[in-house]
Amino acid sequence: MSYFVVGAGFWGATIAERIATVLKAPVTIIERRNHIGGNCHSSLDEETGIECHRYGSHIFHTSLPNVWEYITQFGAFTSYQHKVFITHKGKVYTMPINLSTINQFYGKNLSPTEAAAFLQAEIARDHIADPKNLEEKAISLIGRPLYEAFIKGYTHKQWERDPRELPAEIITRLPFRTTYNANYFNDVWQGVPKDGYFSLFERMLSNPLISVQLNCDYATIRSQIPSDATVIYTGMPDQLFDYEYGTLEWRSLRFEWETLPVSDFQGTTVMNYADTDVPYTRIHEFKHYHPERTTPFNCPKTVICREHSQTYHNGLEAYYPVNNERNNTLYARYAQRAAATPGLVLGGRLGAYRYWDMDKAIANALQVFEERILPAARG
Ligand SMILES: Cc1cc2nc3c(=O)[nH]c(=O)nc-3n(C[C@H](O)[C@H](O)[C@H](O)COP(=O)(O)OP(=O)(O)OC[C@H]3O[C@@H](n4cnc5c(N)ncnc54)[C@H](O)[C@@H]3O)c2cc1C
Repeated sequence: MSYFVVGAGFWGATIAERIATVLKAPVTIIERRNHIGGNCHSSLDEETGIECHRYGSHIFHTSLPNVWEYITQFGAFTSYQHKVFITHKGKVYTMPINLSTINQFYGKNLSPTEAAAFLQAEIARDHIADPKNLEEKAISLIGRPLYEAFIKGYTHKQWERDPRELPAEIITRLPFRTTYNANYFNDVWQGVPKDGYFSLFERMLSNPLISVQLNCDYATIRSQIPSDATVIYTGMPDQLFDYEYGTLEWRSLRFEWETLPVSDFQGTTVMNYADTDVPYTRIHEFKHYHPERTTPFNCPKTVICREHSQTYHNGLEAYYPVNNERNNTLYARYAQRAAATPGLVLGGRLGAYRYWDMDKAIANALQVFEERILPAARG
């Protein structure tokens, strides 16, 4: 049996590693980019030595013991704890909204119990029992003033649409805390790879049974794949089937990089920008992920990246699925078609048309290996 994995992100890399380690079978990874790691790829900036996450900040966080056990085989993680700040009308607040945000925004000094009651009263002022759109949903969760300050403009930039035109289902919850806890994630384990995502991926794919073909789009070599091979495909499903049923919608991103002649630009890894007069959604400053790397950290220069949201079209990278009813129905047809195609396994965040954090992508790949690939190999 020969195996071809299309895509060297966490999902494809996990499957390839399992095929080589458990089945002891050769596996070829086909990757259209010039590097492994998919969207989690990082590399060192040549001038400063700062490790930069090339597709936006990536913080590993999980509460899944099997994923943590699996991934830490390939490298240790730092104790980095993610905290996010947001600038609104020139002032910096804590995100997600917590007691500090609430007190600073309203100019109050509320206790946790007082803040909870205060927000309930704010929410009640708009009398929204049955939210019809994203704006109404957000107001029903946190009240109008906090929504207008921290969610409205940011959401508008993310989707390039007025939140009143977006379905309420896009958000199921808007976390706010009535404590001073400023941690972005609540998971049991959290950090960034001690010696970089690039090293972690190199170790995942270091088994000599794994070969990697970079700069190679599956479409260009598809006809050369033996007909009895198993193809594990982590690209876009509509592209795989030549858009036969129609085109799936995605959101894309544009990253604007700059090296600045200051040792510290913003004092933290991620600063969100809430207002629409700032065209980008956030700025990443990568040296803050590794304060323990003293040489790049103390470098008199810093690398930042401004993240802009944009509509996807052919030729751009697809980052986020647009999971509305039309797209989900269309995706189900492609998924059915894939399931009916012998020797094809569709997966990964593109193939599943889902947003997955890294741990969920790895967990799903481990499960697909155990439930589909392993039983098929053992007959
Ligand atoms: C901006 C951003 C920030 C994120 N931050 C975090 C975070 O902080 N923490 C977290 O846990 N998760 C984060 N994520 C999610 C994380 O990126 C995903 O969980 C992860 O990338 C999923 O891995 P994957 O292998 O499914 O997909 P990908 O990493 O996208 O890998 C798919 C690979 O397939 C390749 N490919 C596609 N089509 C073809 C083809 N036809 N031929 C050859 N190769 C092909 C692509 O080039 C790509 O390398 C973030 C995502 C985004 C967009």
